[in-house]
Amino acid sequence: MRESTLDRALAHYANAPHLVFWETTKACQLACLHCRASAQYGPAPGELTTEEGKAFLDALAAWKDASPIVIFTGGDCLARADLRELVAHGNGLGLRMGIAPSVTPRLEDEVLRDLYASGVRSASISCDGARAGTHDGIRGIPGHLVSTLGALELLSDLGYRLQVNTAVMARNVHELGEIACLLIERQIRVWEVFFLVGTGRGTGEEEIAAQEAEDVCRFLVALDAYGLTIRTVEAPFYRRVREMYDAAPDQLEADGGALFHELMGPLEARHGKPAGTHHSATLATGDGRGVVFVGHDGAIHPSGFLPVSLGNVRTDSLVDVYQTHPLLAALRQGELHGPCGECAWRRLCGGSRARAYAHSGDPLGSDPACINALVTA
Ligand code: SF4
Repeated sequence: MRESTLDRALAHYANAPHLVFWETTKACQLACLHCRASAQYGPAPGELTTEEGKAFLDALAAWKDASPIVIFTGGDCLARADLRELVAHGNGLGLRMGIAPSVTPRLEDEVLRDLYASGVRSASISCDGARAGTHDGIRGIPGHLVSTLGALELLSDLGYRLQVNTAVMARNVHELGEIACLLIERQIRVWEVFFLVGTGRGTGEEEIAAQEAEDVCRFLVALDAYGLTIRTVEAPFYRRVREMYDAAPDQLEADGGALFHELMGPLEARHGKPAGTHHSATLATGDGRGVVFVGHDGAIHPSGFLPVSLGNVRTDSLVDVYQTHPLLAALRQGELHGPCGECAWRRLCGGSRARAYAHSGDPLGSDPACINALVTA
């Protein structure tokens, strides 16, 4: 990314987020092993009411010089009986909106048609394995991978822009090559890869090691050539890896370790050697830096994975909190500690603030999943 582009992006993120995640409810019929929200079957006490939700959307629409995308998430956003009303309200305000529903019997043709008609254009669905045993095991429901693939087909037929989200952890990292094939073969072009952070129910799951994370990033860089647009969550060091190999593309295969070559195996067998010039755009977003998260009870957090409360939309102006909270200012200005604080890549990357917090209790600390942080430690 050019320095001038990065400067513009960071100046914009100082004023307003690019993405606002709203955890509309904690209710969800699934019980995923790594759930950030520690979702529960029914709604949690204190969820924002319909009127409070509308007021929150009003505030987003009124944000000066901003046009954030609102992602209705959860729990399962489809568990909110008033979701259509909220979406219609957001549409009337001109907001850009997406949904991140769970795949359950609530994900029905009629509901999805209504939401599309009310202005929702994008949807993200989670797929954590290419094999039923892996995905179903993580999602906690037998047959869930089949339902997930059916949901993707339905959403695609209805005209939604699709994104698949995958949480990477020790138990599924070796399937990433097969998951990439699954996306390519269904013409799904956007893959959001979340490098698990031990928070919520994910506390007991195993994060991948820094050397593995480096190879996964190299693999994701290679996917550009297959037409996939990659977004990472809690792995901003992907941008470092991307820049390194943009400058030296021939090095990718030579530097790739055993995991990189293992992940490339299914892709090359089914779709040939990487070729072509597709080059997906990179956003320099991070926790509290172009991203903000509003919890089910209105609590404001830098992201869904960084459980530090900065205020509450019930009592505070989200605009003021986002623009002036000292922690967010420090995150955006790169006032980091340890190796991340000394790293030459910190403006572009900045490390996962959520992982730093989960491991050290310091949201400005170093990201232990980055090999560069280990090298410079
Ligand atoms: S050391 Fe920190 S800032 Fe540097 S690339 Fe790694 S995670 Fe990013």
